[in-house]
Amino acid sequence: MAEVSPQRPGLLNGLKNLFRAKPDWDKPTAHPDRVYNWSRAIPYWMIHAACLAVIWVGWSWPAVAVCVLLYALRVFTLTAFYHRYFSHRSFKCGRITQFIFGFIGCTAVQRGPLWWAAHHRFHHAHSDDEHDLHSPRERGVIWSHMMWFLTPESHPTNVKMIPDFNRYPEIRWLDKFDLIPPLLLAVMTYGFGALLGYMNPESGITGLQMLVWGFFISTVAVYHVTYLVNSATHLIGSRRYETKDDSRNSLIIALLTFGEGWHNNHHYYPNSTRQGFFWWEIDISYMVLRTMGLFGLVWELRPVPKRLLAPKPKTVPATATPVPIMGDAQS
Ligand SMILES: [Zn+2]
Ligand SMILES: [Zn+2]
Repeated sequence: MAEVSPQRPGLLNGLKNLFRAKPDWDKPTAHPDRVYNWSRAIPYWMIHAACLAVIWVGWSWPAVAVCVLLYALRVFTLTAFYHRYFSHRSFKCGRITQFIFGFIGCTAVQRGPLWWAAHHRFHHAHSDDEHDLHSPRERGVIWSHMMWFLTPESHPTNVKMIPDFNRYPEIRWLDKFDLIPPLLLAVMTYGFGALLGYMNPESGITGLQMLVWGFFISTVAVYHVTYLVNSATHLIGSRRYETKDDSRNSLIIALLTFGEGWHNNHHYYPNSTRQGFFWWEIDISYMVLRTMGLFGLVWELRPVPKRLLAPKPKTVPATATPVPIMGDAQS
């Protein structure tokens, strides 16, 4: 299979690179050869620019409330389902639940569940080595935060990393048409704002106002909070466990991401549903998953082994990459 590197920078070259040969996942492109794809970045930056429309559309409490609610729903979905379920299979759920949260995850405009989880599994297999797509060690903090996914190497879904979920046609459909859920959400936020404005004209609420707050501002907030896990938690915070990477634990990032800030814990033992290993390590997603478990929506949440909870464990990492196992989701 042909390699995509070396790539040349620039807008036109970026467009050409989009249609070039797919990367050879067995021989990942070395860091210095990876090039930012400016054409792929245009929609990404347009979503940011759309937030500036707040100057014209103003604000209202319902618009801010929808923004916060959609932030919370999507951060939870990325943390609990894209990461802990699709990437690590740390609990089980039914096929309908799997699809619903895969669909909600797509509304965060971070591609489909197969793309997201395959890249994340690759990160665990290569964390902070020369092949890790988003290591701040090799290319710096901005690259690891929001440039790595706008390269030709990062564009395709590495299905070799995720055969277990790739066998579900509805999940493959989501991954292929990952823009349908966010477009639907954008239309719904606009429609909701227009309806509120129609029912109560004095409120000043408009479809555009709800679209800007509920979709654009909320999505950009979800973007950067998610990206902190790839950038900041490999740079800032404390290290409880010896791991081969630079992963760290951070309370602030754990609060923003609903539990993903306990990244050193997670790199040391990626298989548990819970990432805050101790009671004081707040892990909101785990609490929500436990609650969902009471209603039978999820089950078999994998625990943290007791041996990891001894004071100051110093042993070598016991596990690394989760090995995909076929036949997990229940119909
Ligand atoms: Zn990491
Ligand atoms: Zn992980």
